[in-house]
Amino acid sequence: MRLSRAFLPTLKETPAEAQIVSHRLMLRAGLVRQTSAGIYAWLPLGWRTLQKVEQIVREEQDRAGAQEILMPTIQSADLWRQSGRYDAYGPEMLRLKDRHEREMLFGPTNEEMVTDIFAQFAKSYRDLPRNLYHIQWKFRDEVRPRFGVMRGREFLMKDAYSFDLTKEGATHSYRQMFLAYLRTFARMGLKAIPMRADTGPIGGDLSHEFIILADTGESQVFVSKGMLEMDPLAETPDYDADLAPLVERWTSHYAATDEMHDEAAWASLPEDQRVSARGIEVGHIFYFGTKYSQPMGLRVQGADGQAVVPEMGSYGIGVSRLVGAIIEANHDEAGIKWPDAVAPFKAAVINLKPGDLSCDALSERVYAALGTDGIYDDRDERAGRKFADADLMGHPWQVIVGPRGAAADKVELKRRMTGERHEVSVEDAIARLN
Ligand code: ATP
Ligand code: MG
Ligand code: MG
Ligand code: MG
Repeated sequence: MRLSRAFLPTLKETPAEAQIVSHRLMLRAGLVRQTSAGIYAWLPLGWRTLQKVEQIVREEQDRAGAQEILMPTIQSADLWRQSGRYDAYGPEMLRLKDRHEREMLFGPTNEEMVTDIFAQFAKSYRDLPRNLYHIQWKFRDEVRPRFGVMRGREFLMKDAYSFDLTKEGATHSYRQMFLAYLRTFARMGLKAIPMRADTGPIGGDLSHEFIILADTGESQVFVSKGMLEMDPLAETPDYDADLAPLVERWTSHYAATDEMHDEAAWASLPEDQRVSARGIEVGHIFYFGTKYSQPMGLRVQGADGQAVVPEMGSYGIGVSRLVGAIIEANHDEAGIKWPDAVAPFKAAVINLKPGDLSCDALSERVYAALGTDGIYDDRDERAGRKFADADLMGHPWQVIVGPRGAAADKVELKRRMTGERHEVSVEDAIARLN
């Protein structure tokens, strides 16, 4: 993308309404634009990042054996009456009527709908286990939408739903998602800690929230240091094997949100092992047995001919919230510092003297080699402005092309994450970026 033609509306002023750094930077770098309270349009830089995040979520869901579908945003109130949640859900649900006065709603989550869809297909024990997920916009009429996309009213969520014949099977499905989540967040450069959590309005017996430590987080959390030192990417799980030992390695450490906090257990940890901090919830998994399958009439025939009510779980990831959370974890005074895996563009080519023959030729060469991963600052602007914009937008690499270096076929390569700069030949720069 050439900056001279791009739609990247950066702001010089810090927007007054933004209270936290990720919100400020998302507005300043032109990632999103608020269109109503808690509702955002995603502009090119933000949209590319959101798709990168979404793709990592998708790959890890697929790897763990879940299958992608796409359910609608609009649901019928009748489905929610069957589960008994229509009245219980309260004012966070956006309720609508169609022209025939039928009651509809904008889905805040999809347990009812997926159970209904699955019930129409699953007849026998051979149709289980299955895990279905989708990545779809949700609406929750939050009392206080704030912090930009972190607590929006319309937001993108990945929600998966597992169906099993037995509680043991459902526990295995839960563990698959538990481990897939650890990998998902780690691939985005985030340290998300699984914490025993309250099951809340979804209901059920077993639940973990995945939480990123950040001062601006809305939850108070308590974690043992040992947990923070573990690396989720150290090994790839075999999702068909017994996952209990791997999961236990994580759950044996103390980690809890304040709702589940156990003062006595906490006090028994050595002082230097206790980390109490603020956290951002980026994912949440639940096992809830037959809470929806029972009232929604999901039944399959077991191997012995008897009817079985499947055991279910649901597994959410805040895809759009993650974009904000990644920025909370990766920024400095100058702007965003994208981790490679989610960066909207891999590198910016900064031409310090557009119109200069060798600068133009060299810049075009690097830009062509980058393909669609590159963004080219070909604007007729001061160098200072170009550096500031590249730092603000946070591209992992900057390739700085100035007249002195260009005469010798040299460019400067800057790594945004560390600030390191090196003068290299254009061939080396291209090789490094490919
Ligand atoms: P929160 O405690 O932040 O209100 P929640 O517990 O109500 O979230 P869940 O029902 O567990 O949310 O939904 C799954 C995931 O969706 C959450 O872990 C979070 O990452 C994301 N999410 C929930 N509400 C919002 C929102 N208003 N804006 C953006 N993401 C959200
Ligand atoms: Mg909520
Ligand atoms: Mg919550
Ligand atoms: Mg939750």
